[in-house]
Amino acid sequence: MRGIGEHAVVLGAGMAGLLAARALAGAYDRVTVVERDQGLNGRSRKGVPQGRHAHILLPRGQRILEELLPGAEAALIGGGAVVADPGVDHHFALGGHTLARRPGSERAIQASRPLLEDVVRECVGALPGVRFAEGRDVVGLLTAGPGRITGVQVVPRTPGAAAEEVRADLVLDAMGRAGRTRYWLERLGHGPVPQEEVRIGVAYATRPVRLPLDSGVGKAVVVGPRPGSPRGMAMVAVEGDRYLLTVAGLDGANRPPADEEGFLAFVRTLAPPEVFEAILAGEALDGIASHRYPSDLRNRYERARGLPDGLLVTGDALCSFNPIYAQGMTVACLEAQVLRRCLAAGPRGLARRYFRAVAKALNDPWRMAVAADLSMPEVEGRRGPAIRVMNAYVDRVQAAAARDADVAEQFFRVVGLLDPPPALMRPSIVARVLGAGA
Ligand SMILES: Cc1cc2nc3c(=O)[nH]c(=O)nc-3n(C[C@H](O)[C@H](O)[C@H](O)COP(=O)(O)OP(=O)(O)OC[C@H]3O[C@@H](n4cnc5c(N)ncnc54)[C@H](O)[C@@H]3O)c2cc1C
Repeated sequence: MRGIGEHAVVLGAGMAGLLAARALAGAYDRVTVVERDQGLNGRSRKGVPQGRHAHILLPRGQRILEELLPGAEAALIGGGAVVADPGVDHHFALGGHTLARRPGSERAIQASRPLLEDVVRECVGALPGVRFAEGRDVVGLLTAGPGRITGVQVVPRTPGAAAEEVRADLVLDAMGRAGRTRYWLERLGHGPVPQEEVRIGVAYATRPVRLPLDSGVGKAVVVGPRPGSPRGMAMVAVEGDRYLLTVAGLDGANRPPADEEGFLAFVRTLAPPEVFEAILAGEALDGIASHRYPSDLRNRYERARGLPDGLLVTGDALCSFNPIYAQGMTVACLEAQVLRRCLAAGPRGLARRYFRAVAKALNDPWRMAVAADLSMPEVEGRRGPAIRVMNAYVDRVQAAAARDADVAEQFFRVVGLLDPPPALMRPSIVARVLGAGA
Protein backbone atom coordinates (compact mmCIF):
# COMPACT_ATOMS: atom_id res chain seq x y z
CA MET A 1 0.00 0.00 0.00
CA ARG A 2 1.50 3.32 -1.11
CA GLY A 3 -0.95 5.82 0.37
CA ILE A 4 -3.55 5.73 3.10
CA GLY A 5 -5.66 2.93 1.64
CA GLU A 6 -5.78 0.27 -1.04
CA HIS A 7 -9.00 1.03 -2.92
CA ALA A 8 -11.39 4.01 -3.19
CA VAL A 9 -14.59 3.95 -5.23
CA VAL A 10 -16.15 7.12 -6.66
CA LEU A 11 -19.86 7.00 -7.54
CA GLY A 12 -20.57 9.12 -10.63
CA ALA A 13 -18.26 10.48 -13.34
CA GLY A 14 -19.65 14.03 -13.48
CA MET A 15 -17.36 16.99 -12.84
CA ALA A 16 -17.42 16.47 -9.06
CA GLY A 17 -16.70 12.73 -9.28
CA LEU A 18 -13.83 13.24 -11.73
CA LEU A 19 -12.23 15.97 -9.63
CA ALA A 20 -12.63 13.88 -6.48
CA ALA A 21 -10.97 10.96 -8.27
CA ARG A 22 -8.07 13.30 -8.98
CA ALA A 23 -7.77 14.07 -5.27
CA LEU A 24 -7.96 10.37 -4.34
CA ALA A 25 -5.40 9.18 -6.90
CA GLY A 26 -2.13 8.71 -5.08
CA ALA A 27 -3.78 8.54 -1.66
CA TYR A 28 -5.28 5.15 -2.64
CA ASP A 29 -3.51 2.53 -4.76
CA ARG A 30 -6.60 2.09 -6.92
CA VAL A 31 -9.50 4.43 -7.63
CA THR A 32 -12.56 3.06 -9.44
CA VAL A 33 -15.10 5.51 -10.86
CA VAL A 34 -18.49 3.82 -11.30
CA GLU A 35 -20.81 5.53 -13.79
CA ARG A 36 -24.17 4.56 -15.24
CA ASP A 37 -23.56 6.15 -18.66
CA GLN A 38 -21.36 4.43 -21.17
CA GLY A 39 -18.86 5.78 -23.70
CA LEU A 40 -18.54 9.24 -22.18
CA ASN A 41 -17.24 11.40 -25.00
CA GLY A 42 -17.88 14.95 -26.04
CA ARG A 43 -21.65 14.76 -26.32
CA SER A 44 -24.19 15.72 -23.76
CA ARG A 45 -25.34 12.50 -22.13
CA LYS A 46 -28.34 11.15 -20.31
CA GLY A 47 -26.78 11.18 -16.84
CA VAL A 48 -25.93 14.89 -17.16
CA PRO A 49 -28.97 16.46 -18.86
CA GLN A 50 -27.79 19.95 -17.87
CA GLY A 51 -24.85 19.43 -20.24
CA ARG A 52 -26.74 21.04 -23.14
CA HIS A 53 -27.00 24.36 -21.31
CA ALA A 54 -24.29 27.03 -21.08
CA HIS A 55 -21.77 26.18 -18.34
CA ILE A 56 -19.49 28.95 -17.13
CA LEU A 57 -16.43 27.98 -15.10
CA LEU A 58 -15.81 30.82 -12.63
CA PRO A 59 -12.30 32.27 -12.28
CA ARG A 60 -11.63 30.40 -9.02
CA GLY A 61 -12.64 27.14 -10.67
CA GLN A 62 -10.34 27.82 -13.61
CA ARG A 63 -7.41 28.34 -11.28
CA ILE A 64 -8.07 25.22 -9.19
CA LEU A 65 -8.68 23.07 -12.26
CA GLU A 66 -5.23 23.92 -13.60
CA GLU A 67 -3.70 23.37 -10.17
CA LEU A 68 -5.29 19.93 -9.84
CA LEU A 69 -4.75 18.92 -13.45
CA PRO A 70 -1.81 20.83 -14.95
CA GLY A 71 -2.28 21.09 -18.70
CA ALA A 72 -6.10 21.03 -18.55
CA GLU A 73 -6.33 24.62 -19.72
CA ALA A 74 -4.09 23.97 -22.72
CA ALA A 75 -6.14 20.88 -23.54
CA LEU A 76 -9.34 22.93 -23.40
CA ILE A 77 -7.88 25.55 -25.71
CA GLY A 78 -6.56 22.78 -27.97
CA GLY A 79 -10.10 21.38 -28.06
CA GLY A 80 -11.41 24.70 -29.34
CA ALA A 81 -12.37 26.49 -26.09
CA VAL A 82 -12.70 30.24 -26.55
CA VAL A 83 -10.31 32.49 -24.61
CA ALA A 84 -11.81 35.83 -23.64
CA ASP A 85 -10.71 38.99 -21.90
CA PRO A 86 -13.90 39.87 -20.00
CA GLY A 87 -13.02 43.57 -20.03
CA VAL A 88 -13.10 43.60 -23.83
CA ASP A 89 -15.18 40.62 -24.87
CA HIS A 90 -18.02 40.40 -22.35
CA HIS A 91 -21.22 42.37 -21.91
CA PHE A 92 -22.58 42.02 -18.39
CA ALA A 93 -25.86 43.59 -17.23
CA LEU A 94 -26.96 42.88 -13.67
CA GLY A 95 -29.83 44.37 -11.71
CA GLY A 96 -30.57 46.55 -14.75
CA HIS A 97 -27.01 48.04 -14.87
CA THR A 98 -24.38 47.42 -17.54
CA LEU A 99 -21.17 46.86 -15.61
CA ALA A 100 -18.01 48.80 -16.44
CA ARG A 101 -14.95 46.65 -16.98
CA ARG A 102 -11.41 47.31 -17.97
CA PRO A 103 -9.22 45.11 -20.18
CA GLY A 104 -6.72 42.74 -18.64
CA SER A 105 -8.67 41.16 -15.80
CA GLU A 106 -8.65 37.36 -15.19
CA ARG A 107 -9.04 35.70 -18.61
CA ALA A 108 -12.01 33.44 -19.20
CA ILE A 109 -11.80 29.99 -20.83
CA GLN A 110 -15.20 29.24 -22.41
CA ALA A 111 -16.21 25.70 -23.33
CA SER A 112 -19.31 23.58 -23.46
CA ARG A 113 -19.94 21.26 -20.53
CA PRO A 114 -19.18 18.14 -22.63
CA LEU A 115 -15.77 19.53 -23.68
CA LEU A 116 -14.94 20.50 -20.09
CA GLU A 117 -15.93 17.08 -18.85
CA ASP A 118 -14.04 15.29 -21.63
CA VAL A 119 -10.81 17.13 -20.91
CA VAL A 120 -11.09 16.52 -17.18
CA ARG A 121 -11.92 12.87 -17.77
CA GLU A 122 -8.95 12.38 -20.06
CA CYS A 123 -6.56 13.98 -17.56
CA VAL A 124 -8.00 11.93 -14.68
CA GLY A 125 -8.06 8.70 -16.70
CA ALA A 126 -4.33 9.10 -17.37
CA LEU A 127 -3.50 9.11 -13.64
CA PRO A 128 -1.92 5.91 -12.32
CA GLY A 129 -4.39 3.63 -10.57
CA VAL A 130 -7.60 5.28 -11.88
CA ARG A 131 -10.07 3.19 -13.86
CA PHE A 132 -13.65 3.65 -15.01
CA ALA A 133 -16.44 1.09 -14.57
CA GLU A 134 -19.12 2.37 -16.96
CA GLY A 135 -22.62 1.19 -17.72
CA ARG A 136 -23.29 0.35 -14.06
CA ASP A 137 -25.97 1.64 -11.70
CA VAL A 138 -25.02 2.02 -8.07
CA VAL A 139 -27.97 0.63 -6.10
CA GLY A 140 -26.85 0.51 -2.47
CA LEU A 141 -24.13 0.64 0.17
CA LEU A 142 -22.31 -2.34 1.70
CA THR A 143 -21.48 -2.39 5.40
CA ALA A 144 -19.43 -4.37 7.87
CA GLY A 145 -21.34 -3.86 11.09
CA PRO A 146 -22.98 -0.56 11.96
CA GLY A 147 -19.95 1.72 11.94
CA ARG A 148 -18.37 1.31 8.52
CA ILE A 149 -19.26 1.44 4.83
CA THR A 150 -17.20 -1.13 2.98
CA GLY A 151 -18.29 -0.71 -0.63
CA VAL A 152 -21.27 -0.51 -2.95
CA GLN A 153 -23.62 -2.76 -4.78
CA VAL A 154 -23.82 -2.12 -8.52
CA VAL A 155 -25.97 -3.51 -11.31
CA PRO A 156 -24.55 -3.60 -14.86
CA ARG A 157 -26.92 -2.11 -17.42
CA THR A 158 -26.71 -5.24 -19.54
CA PRO A 159 -30.00 -7.16 -19.61
CA GLY A 160 -29.92 -10.14 -17.26
CA ALA A 161 -26.59 -9.17 -15.66
CA ALA A 162 -26.22 -10.06 -12.00
CA ALA A 163 -25.57 -7.48 -9.28
CA GLU A 164 -21.90 -6.99 -8.36
CA GLU A 165 -20.22 -5.96 -5.13
CA VAL A 166 -17.40 -3.43 -5.27
CA ARG A 167 -15.42 -3.49 -2.00
CA ALA A 168 -13.44 -0.41 -1.03
CA ASP A 169 -11.75 1.32 1.92
CA LEU A 170 -13.52 4.53 0.95
CA VAL A 171 -16.76 5.26 -0.92
CA LEU A 172 -17.30 8.76 -2.31
CA ASP A 173 -20.76 9.75 -3.52
CA ALA A 174 -20.73 12.13 -6.50
CA MET A 175 -24.03 11.00 -8.05
CA GLY A 176 -25.43 14.51 -8.32
CA ARG A 177 -28.65 15.93 -6.97
CA ALA A 178 -30.64 12.77 -7.46
CA GLY A 179 -28.14 10.62 -5.52
CA ARG A 180 -29.85 8.46 -2.89
CA THR A 181 -27.08 8.15 -0.32
CA ARG A 182 -28.92 9.93 2.47
CA TYR A 183 -31.88 7.52 2.09
CA TRP A 184 -29.58 4.50 1.98
CA LEU A 185 -27.95 5.71 5.19
CA GLU A 186 -31.33 6.08 6.88
CA ARG A 187 -32.27 2.58 5.80
CA LEU A 188 -29.07 1.35 7.45
CA GLY A 189 -30.09 3.13 10.66
CA HIS A 190 -27.88 6.26 10.33
CA GLY A 191 -28.80 9.90 10.25
CA PRO A 192 -31.08 11.58 9.36
CA VAL A 193 -28.93 14.02 7.42
CA PRO A 194 -30.36 17.52 7.99
CA GLN A 195 -31.23 19.42 4.83
CA GLU A 196 -31.68 23.08 3.95
CA GLU A 197 -33.78 23.96 0.95
CA VAL A 198 -34.94 27.17 -0.74
CA ARG A 199 -37.56 26.50 -3.38
CA ILE A 200 -36.87 28.58 -6.47
CA GLY A 201 -38.34 26.75 -9.45
CA VAL A 202 -35.99 27.90 -12.21
CA ALA A 203 -36.67 26.82 -15.78
CA TYR A 204 -33.98 26.80 -18.48
CA ALA A 205 -34.06 26.75 -22.27
CA THR A 206 -31.02 26.62 -24.56
CA ARG A 207 -30.30 26.68 -28.25
CA PRO A 208 -26.87 26.63 -29.92
CA VAL A 209 -26.56 29.33 -32.60
CA ARG A 210 -23.99 30.46 -35.14
CA LEU A 211 -23.86 34.22 -35.54
CA PRO A 212 -22.78 36.11 -38.67
CA LEU A 213 -19.01 36.76 -38.63
CA ASP A 214 -19.51 40.51 -38.51
CA SER A 215 -22.06 40.41 -35.67
CA GLY A 216 -19.76 42.30 -33.30
CA VAL A 217 -21.42 40.56 -30.37
CA GLY A 218 -18.23 39.75 -28.43
CA LYS A 219 -17.68 36.46 -26.64
CA ALA A 220 -20.34 36.51 -23.94
CA VAL A 221 -23.50 38.43 -23.17
CA VAL A 222 -24.94 37.95 -19.70
CA VAL A 223 -28.13 39.64 -18.52
CA GLY A 224 -29.25 38.97 -14.95
CA PRO A 225 -32.65 39.36 -13.31
CA ARG A 226 -33.81 42.84 -12.34
CA PRO A 227 -36.61 43.95 -10.06
CA GLY A 228 -39.92 42.83 -11.52
CA SER A 229 -38.25 40.59 -14.09
CA PRO A 230 -36.96 37.32 -12.57
CA ARG A 231 -35.36 36.08 -15.78
CA GLY A 232 -31.93 36.14 -17.37
CA MET A 233 -29.79 35.07 -20.30
CA ALA A 234 -26.23 33.94 -20.98
CA MET A 235 -25.00 33.74 -24.55
CA VAL A 236 -21.52 32.26 -24.49
CA ALA A 237 -19.11 31.61 -27.37
CA VAL A 238 -17.74 28.07 -27.12
CA GLU A 239 -15.83 25.56 -29.26
CA GLY A 240 -17.22 24.69 -32.66
CA ASP A 241 -17.68 28.29 -33.82
CA ARG A 242 -20.99 28.65 -32.00
CA TYR A 243 -22.69 30.31 -29.08
CA LEU A 244 -24.81 28.60 -26.47
CA LEU A 245 -27.83 30.82 -26.03
CA THR A 246 -29.33 29.99 -22.65
CA VAL A 247 -32.30 31.75 -21.08
CA ALA A 248 -33.84 31.09 -17.68
CA GLY A 249 -36.66 32.37 -15.52
CA LEU A 250 -38.67 31.53 -12.46
CA ASP A 251 -41.39 29.02 -13.22
CA GLY A 252 -44.81 30.36 -14.18
CA ALA A 253 -45.01 33.62 -16.12
CA ASN A 254 -41.22 33.74 -16.51
CA ARG A 255 -40.70 30.22 -17.74
CA PRO A 256 -38.89 30.26 -21.12
CA PRO A 257 -40.92 28.53 -23.83
CA ALA A 258 -39.37 25.68 -25.81
CA ASP A 259 -41.10 26.52 -29.10
CA GLU A 260 -39.31 28.62 -31.72
CA GLU A 261 -41.54 31.67 -31.61
CA GLY A 262 -41.98 31.75 -27.83
CA PHE A 263 -38.26 31.23 -27.25
CA LEU A 264 -37.30 34.16 -29.48
CA ALA A 265 -39.95 36.39 -27.92
CA PHE A 266 -38.48 35.54 -24.49
CA VAL A 267 -34.92 36.28 -25.69
CA ARG A 268 -36.12 39.61 -27.03
CA THR A 269 -37.15 40.72 -23.52
CA LEU A 270 -33.55 40.27 -22.36
CA ALA A 271 -31.02 40.74 -25.16
CA PRO A 272 -29.64 44.18 -26.03
CA PRO A 273 -31.28 45.14 -29.39
CA GLU A 274 -28.11 44.67 -31.49
CA VAL A 275 -27.54 41.24 -29.96
CA PHE A 276 -31.12 40.23 -30.71
CA GLU A 277 -30.65 41.39 -34.34
CA ALA A 278 -27.52 39.22 -34.60
CA ILE A 279 -29.42 36.21 -33.20
CA LEU A 280 -32.17 36.72 -35.79
CA ALA A 281 -29.57 36.90 -38.56
CA GLY A 282 -27.77 33.83 -37.20
CA GLU A 283 -28.32 30.15 -37.76
CA ALA A 284 -30.00 27.87 -35.23
CA LEU A 285 -27.84 24.75 -34.94
CA ASP A 286 -30.12 22.47 -32.96
CA GLY A 287 -33.46 22.27 -31.23
CA ILE A 288 -34.30 23.98 -27.94
CA ALA A 289 -33.37 22.02 -24.82
CA SER A 290 -35.29 22.59 -21.57
CA HIS A 291 -34.42 21.89 -17.97
CA ARG A 292 -36.11 22.55 -14.62
CA TYR A 293 -34.32 23.15 -11.39
CA PRO A 294 -36.55 23.09 -8.30
CA SER A 295 -34.50 24.36 -5.37
CA ASP A 296 -31.22 25.28 -3.73
CA LEU A 297 -30.46 22.17 -1.68
CA ARG A 298 -27.79 21.61 0.94
CA ASN A 299 -27.25 18.32 2.78
CA ARG A 300 -25.72 18.98 6.17
CA TYR A 301 -23.66 15.81 6.66
CA GLU A 302 -21.46 17.71 9.11
CA ARG A 303 -24.51 18.00 11.42
CA ALA A 304 -25.68 14.38 11.12
CA ARG A 305 -25.15 12.12 14.11
CA GLY A 306 -23.63 8.68 14.05
CA LEU A 307 -22.52 8.57 10.43
CA PRO A 308 -20.45 5.52 9.54
CA ASP A 309 -16.78 5.76 8.55
CA GLY A 310 -15.70 5.15 5.00
CA LEU A 311 -18.23 7.40 3.24
CA LEU A 312 -17.81 10.91 1.82
CA VAL A 313 -20.09 13.03 -0.39
CA THR A 314 -19.26 15.76 -2.90
CA GLY A 315 -20.69 17.92 -5.70
CA ASP A 316 -24.41 18.39 -6.22
CA ALA A 317 -25.06 15.35 -4.01
CA LEU A 318 -23.77 17.48 -1.14
CA CYS A 319 -24.97 20.93 -2.15
CA SER A 320 -26.53 22.26 -5.31
CA PHE A 321 -27.18 25.89 -6.15
CA ASN A 322 -29.38 27.88 -8.49
CA PRO A 323 -27.41 27.36 -11.74
CA ILE A 324 -27.74 30.99 -12.83
CA TYR A 325 -24.86 31.89 -10.49
CA ALA A 326 -22.60 29.33 -12.25
CA GLN A 327 -21.11 28.04 -8.99
CA GLY A 328 -21.54 24.25 -9.22
CA MET A 329 -18.38 23.23 -11.08
CA THR A 330 -16.21 25.72 -9.20
CA VAL A 331 -17.56 24.44 -5.90
CA ALA A 332 -16.72 20.90 -7.08
CA CYS A 333 -13.14 22.16 -7.61
CA LEU A 334 -13.10 23.65 -4.09
CA GLU A 335 -14.40 20.39 -2.64
CA ALA A 336 -11.66 18.40 -4.40
CA GLN A 337 -9.09 20.76 -2.90
CA VAL A 338 -10.56 20.26 0.57
CA LEU A 339 -10.56 16.49 0.06
CA ARG A 340 -6.91 16.56 -0.96
CA ARG A 341 -5.96 18.46 2.19
CA CYS A 342 -7.94 16.09 4.41
CA LEU A 343 -6.36 13.03 2.77
CA ALA A 344 -2.90 14.47 3.34
CA ALA A 345 -3.59 14.35 7.10
CA GLY A 346 -4.19 10.58 6.98
CA PRO A 347 -7.19 8.26 7.35
CA ARG A 348 -8.03 8.95 11.03
CA GLY A 349 -11.39 10.66 11.41
CA LEU A 350 -11.41 11.38 7.66
CA ALA A 351 -15.20 11.62 7.23
CA ARG A 352 -15.67 13.91 10.24
CA ARG A 353 -12.77 16.18 9.20
CA TYR A 354 -13.87 16.27 5.57
CA PHE A 355 -17.53 17.12 6.23
CA ARG A 356 -16.54 19.90 8.62
CA ALA A 357 -13.94 21.40 6.28
CA VAL A 358 -16.13 21.15 3.22
CA ALA A 359 -19.07 22.78 5.04
CA LYS A 360 -16.82 25.75 5.75
CA ALA A 361 -15.83 25.99 2.08
CA LEU A 362 -19.50 25.85 1.07
CA ASN A 363 -20.69 28.62 3.38
CA ASP A 364 -19.87 31.64 1.21
CA PRO A 365 -21.20 30.28 -2.12
CA TRP A 366 -24.34 28.96 -0.38
CA ARG A 367 -25.08 32.23 1.43
CA MET A 368 -24.46 34.26 -1.72
CA ALA A 369 -26.78 32.09 -3.82
CA VAL A 370 -29.55 32.00 -1.23
CA ALA A 371 -29.36 35.75 -0.58
CA ALA A 372 -29.48 36.49 -4.32
CA ASP A 373 -32.48 34.18 -4.74
CA LEU A 374 -34.28 35.81 -1.83
CA SER A 375 -33.71 39.23 -3.42
CA MET A 376 -36.43 38.19 -5.88
CA PRO A 377 -39.82 38.80 -4.24
CA GLU A 378 -41.27 35.82 -6.12
CA VAL A 379 -39.06 33.40 -4.12
CA GLU A 380 -40.54 32.25 -0.81
CA GLY A 381 -38.34 32.22 2.29
CA ARG A 382 -37.44 34.11 5.42
CA ARG A 383 -35.48 37.29 4.81
CA GLY A 384 -33.65 38.04 8.04
CA PRO A 385 -32.07 41.48 8.59
CA ALA A 386 -28.63 40.25 7.42
CA ILE A 387 -30.04 39.17 4.05
CA ARG A 388 -32.06 42.36 3.60
CA VAL A 389 -29.05 44.58 4.37
CA MET A 390 -26.79 42.50 2.14
CA ASN A 391 -29.21 42.61 -0.79
CA ALA A 392 -29.74 46.35 -0.47
CA TYR A 393 -25.96 46.83 -0.47
CA VAL A 394 -25.45 44.55 -3.49
CA ASP A 395 -28.00 46.69 -5.40
CA ARG A 396 -25.86 49.73 -4.64
CA VAL A 397 -22.68 47.84 -5.62
CA GLN A 398 -24.15 46.93 -9.01
CA ALA A 399 -25.25 50.52 -9.60
CA ALA A 400 -21.77 51.77 -8.68
CA ALA A 401 -20.14 49.10 -10.84
CA ALA A 402 -21.88 50.59 -13.87
CA ARG A 403 -19.69 53.69 -13.49
CA ASP A 404 -16.65 52.49 -11.65
CA ALA A 405 -14.47 49.70 -13.07
CA ASP A 406 -12.70 49.20 -9.71
CA VAL A 407 -15.99 48.43 -7.99
CA ALA A 408 -16.96 46.17 -10.90
CA GLU A 409 -13.63 44.34 -10.63
CA GLN A 410 -14.09 43.73 -6.91
CA PHE A 411 -17.67 42.57 -7.49
CA PHE A 412 -16.55 40.09 -10.16
CA ARG A 413 -13.79 38.78 -7.89
CA VAL A 414 -16.40 38.05 -5.21
CA VAL A 415 -18.96 36.40 -7.49
CA GLY A 416 -16.10 34.56 -9.23
CA LEU A 417 -15.26 33.13 -5.76
CA LEU A 418 -11.72 34.56 -5.84
CA ASP A 419 -12.40 36.84 -2.84
CA PRO A 420 -14.82 36.34 0.07
CA PRO A 421 -17.90 38.63 0.28
CA PRO A 422 -16.37 40.91 2.98
CA ALA A 423 -14.00 42.17 0.25
CA LEU A 424 -16.96 44.29 -0.90
CA MET A 425 -16.99 45.95 2.52
CA ARG A 426 -13.44 47.29 2.34
CA PRO A 427 -13.52 51.01 3.19
CA SER A 428 -12.24 52.04 -0.27
CA ILE A 429 -15.04 50.07 -1.97
CA VAL A 430 -17.76 51.18 0.47
CA ALA A 431 -16.79 54.83 -0.11
CA ARG A 432 -17.09 54.40 -3.90
CA VAL A 433 -20.35 52.48 -3.61
CA LEU A 434 -22.04 54.97 -1.29
CA GLY A 435 -20.58 57.93 -3.16
CA ALA A 436 -21.81 56.61 -6.49
CA GLY A 437 -25.29 56.11 -5.10
CA ALA A 438 -25.55 59.64 -3.74
C1 LIG B 1 -29.24 23.99 -16.28
C2 LIG B 1 -27.95 23.99 -15.49
C3 LIG B 1 -26.96 24.90 -15.81
C4 LIG B 1 -25.77 24.91 -15.06
N1 LIG B 1 -24.82 25.85 -15.35
C5 LIG B 1 -23.67 25.86 -14.62
C6 LIG B 1 -22.65 26.82 -14.90
O1 LIG B 1 -22.78 27.70 -15.75
N2 LIG B 1 -21.51 26.74 -14.17
C7 LIG B 1 -21.32 25.80 -13.18
O2 LIG B 1 -20.26 25.77 -12.56
N3 LIG B 1 -22.28 24.91 -12.90
C8 LIG B 1 -23.44 24.91 -13.58
N4 LIG B 1 -24.40 23.98 -13.28
C9 LIG B 1 -24.16 23.03 -12.18
C10 LIG B 1 -23.24 21.89 -12.61
O3 LIG B 1 -23.78 21.20 -13.71
C11 LIG B 1 -22.99 20.93 -11.43
O4 LIG B 1 -22.99 21.60 -10.23
C12 LIG B 1 -21.65 20.28 -11.55
O5 LIG B 1 -21.53 19.69 -12.78
C13 LIG B 1 -21.36 19.23 -10.47
O6 LIG B 1 -22.24 18.19 -10.64
P1 LIG B 1 -21.94 16.72 -10.11
O7 LIG B 1 -20.73 16.15 -10.77
O8 LIG B 1 -22.00 16.73 -8.63
O9 LIG B 1 -23.25 15.95 -10.60
P2 LIG B 1 -23.70 15.58 -12.07
O10 LIG B 1 -23.10 16.48 -13.07
O11 LIG B 1 -25.18 15.50 -11.99
O12 LIG B 1 -23.08 14.14 -12.30
C14 LIG B 1 -23.55 13.01 -11.61
C15 LIG B 1 -23.02 11.76 -12.31
O13 LIG B 1 -23.42 10.61 -11.56
C16 LIG B 1 -23.97 9.64 -12.44
N5 LIG B 1 -24.95 8.85 -11.64
C17 LIG B 1 -26.05 9.32 -11.01
N6 LIG B 1 -26.67 8.33 -10.36
C18 LIG B 1 -25.95 7.20 -10.57
C19 LIG B 1 -26.08 5.85 -10.14
N7 LIG B 1 -27.08 5.43 -9.34
N8 LIG B 1 -25.16 4.95 -10.56
C20 LIG B 1 -24.11 5.34 -11.37
N9 LIG B 1 -23.93 6.61 -11.78
C21 LIG B 1 -24.83 7.54 -11.39
C22 LIG B 1 -24.61 10.45 -13.56
O14 LIG B 1 -24.77 9.69 -14.74
C23 LIG B 1 -23.60 11.58 -13.71
O15 LIG B 1 -22.55 11.24 -14.58
C24 LIG B 1 -25.59 23.97 -13.99
C25 LIG B 1 -26.61 23.07 -13.69
C26 LIG B 1 -27.79 23.10 -14.40
C27 LIG B 1 -28.89 22.15 -14.00
